[in-house]
Amino acid sequence: MPKGEILIHACCATCAGYVLHKTAQEGYIPVIYYYNPNIFPLAEYKLRRDELKNYAQKQKIRFIEENYNPEEWSDFIKGLESEPERGLRCNKCFELRLSKTADFALKNNIKIFTTTLSISPHKNSKIILSTGTKIAEERDLIFLAEDFKKQDGFKKTMEIAKIEGFYRQNYCGCFYSLR
Ligand code: SF4
Repeated sequence: MPKGEILIHACCATCAGYVLHKTAQEGYIPVIYYYNPNIFPLAEYKLRRDELKNYAQKQKIRFIEENYNPEEWSDFIKGLESEPERGLRCNKCFELRLSKTADFALKNNIKIFTTTLSISPHKNSKIILSTGTKIAEERDLIFLAEDFKKQDGFKKTMEIAKIEGFYRQNYCGCFYSLR
């Protein structure tokens, strides 16, 4: 039974591979929402975007790119620049990206959204899922609060990345994670 569209905030092709596959298998029509103003520098942003966009084209999945606005991100995390990875800066980074995704879903009449961020073993899934749920409740939407790394999700997405030959970055994304 088709479940309709699900808006998937995606950070890169490697993390998205399994999430797209799983949601489609569950009967959703995945729509990719690429909003990652955290990524530094611009060349890296374009690299991750193009890799995912090409894969979306190949899989016939709708791909939406939000404006790249790094100043919006810098303003949002102001004061938390020296936080360690997995700290308060990351929580704000999740909040910004998920609230923008939810706003797009609301405007475009997509009732459910989720994110690929929980597939990473380097990120705090509890915070990601509770942030998404709160943002959805505030807008009367549904957040698919799934920890995608579970049930071998991380392993499976790595297998897809290997088969597809995806580019794999060696840092999370922002300037501070390059340190
Ligand atoms: S380390 Fe990653 S999640 Fe944390 S603020 Fe930087 S880009 Fe965002």
